[in-house]
This record gives sequence, C-alpha cells and structure tokens, in this order.
Amino acid sequence: MRAKKSLGQNFLRDEAVSERIVAALDIGTDDTVIEIGPGQGALTTFLVERAKRVIAIEFDRDLISPLRVQFHTNPNLELLNADALSVDFRELAPDGTKLKLVANLPYNISTPILQRLIEHRLCFSEIVLMFQREVVERITARPATKERGFLSVLVEDAFETETLFDVPPTAFWPVPKVWSSVIRLRPKEEVFPDAAAFRKLLSAAFAQKRKTILNNLRGFSPDIEPALSSAVIDSRRRAETLTLDEWHRLAGLICATFDRDTH
Ligand code: SAM
Repeated sequence: MRAKKSLGQNFLRDEAVSERIVAALDIGTDDTVIEIGPGQGALTTFLVERAKRVIAIEFDRDLISPLRVQFHTNPNLELLNADALSVDFRELAPDGTKLKLVANLPYNISTPILQRLIEHRLCFSEIVLMFQREVVERITARPATKERGFLSVLVEDAFETETLFDVPPTAFWPVPKVWSSVIRLRPKEEVFPDAAAFRKLLSAAFAQKRKTILNNLRGFSPDIEPALSSAVIDSRRRAETLTLDEWHRLAGLICATFDRDTH
C-alpha cells in the first residue's frame, strides 16, 4: 500500500510511541474519543481497548475497508469517511457530554484543524495532538519570542497547553524529514467573548511582522492610538511582544469600536 503525500500520510510504526500518545489522553471507560485520521489504525488499536466509544474520521476512502476488516471485532468503533475540517464536533456530542480527541495530524491541515478545534473547544474536555515539532513551537510560543504569532495567541486564549514529548522521524513510515511533538490541550472556560472580532484583530496586528502594532492596526480602527494608550501598551511595540492580558485589554477597547463601526 502506498502512502499519499497529499493527505499527509506518515503512519506510526512504533507501537510504544502509539501507546504513549494514547496514554497521554486520560480515557475513562465511559468516554467517547474522536480520532482524526486513523490511517492504518496505529492509535485506534489502543483507543478501542480503553474507550466506551471511538469515532474515527478518515478522509481517504481507500483506508476505510482495511480499517473495517482490522477492527471488525470492535463494535465500539465508528468509522466516518469524511473530511475532519467539515465535521461539526458539536453534533457528535448531542447530549452535552464532553468528548476527548486524539490525532497524529496530517501536516497539511494542522493549522485549519487547530482553528476548528478552537471554535468547537467547549465540546472537549481534553485533546492530545501530534504535530511537526516546529508547529508545536509556534503554537506554544511565549510573548517576545520569534515564534510568537497569530496562532500562539489564539491557542493561548482558548487552551491550557502542555508540551509532552518529541517523536523521532524513525517512528513513522514513510520517514518524514522532521521531528514531531505531542501536546495536550485543555479548553479554557473564559476566553475573549467575541471570537470573530478577536481573530480579526490578531490577524491585522500580525499582518506584517516588522511593523509596529500601531502601524499594523491603523487601518483596523480609527481609535487605535487612544485605545493603545488606555490599554497602557506602547504603540511602538511589535505584536509578538504582547501578553494575552494585553491582547484582552486592547481587544476589550478596540473590538467594541470595531463592532460599532462595521455593523
Ligand atoms: N493515525 C495514523 C497513525 O498515527 O499512523 C495516521 C496518521 S497520518 C499522519 C494522517 C491521517 O489523516 C491519514 O490517514 C490521512 O489519510 C488522514 N487525513 C488527511 N486529511 C484528512 C482530513 N481532512 N480529514 C480526515 N482525515 C484526514
């Protein structure tokens, strides 16, 4: 069987790594666990033993029949042949029970999937994800580091994150060029209330990394200068230096203005 590069198929071959990833998710016998991209079942094998119900979402139709054969004795596994980017996770937990999610993510959809998980974060109590290590460094970057960007702030707003361990290229087939890292995300209850406006603010503020926050946000709101001053943020700073608290202060002032101006 050939691996499809376009679908980010690097299958885990090291069982000890698969088991460690699944063990990082605190699975109780009553839990429903979502898996994105079961592939050839490396993680699924351990999930079906531990969870009450496993819903595995696989985009590649060619992998569905082999997965059905492999797991024919596991009635607690439901396979969905679908694009995880179009799945409404809220529909998978209709009675309001919290889901858990685990994935060795295809590298090509890691950012959009993360944004979707942010949107649907309240469906989940815990999420364990493996990304390319460089992506984990970006999403967990602290203020005033060069990796800090739009996604780091969005993730910090939505989740408590914990980087767990690194995985070498040799754990996969085909062998990728880069290392991977596993992280755990726990949704925060309190986030900035207007998610869409917050996202637009961050997107504008990080649009040009070399520009100051004032220059990036001039077009965003006519009130940017007084807002920065009220939020006690020096207008010559760059977006990557702001802490989450500072973003919240600024968004509280500027996003209200933004809403008034655009609706
Ligand atoms: N979980 C398996 C493992 O650890 O060996 C496979 C991981 S592989 C990196 C990513 C998997 O995600 C592949 O099976 C791929 O076909 C699947 N995939 C790619 N894009 C997807 C999408 N949009 N929705 C759901 N699955 C997708």
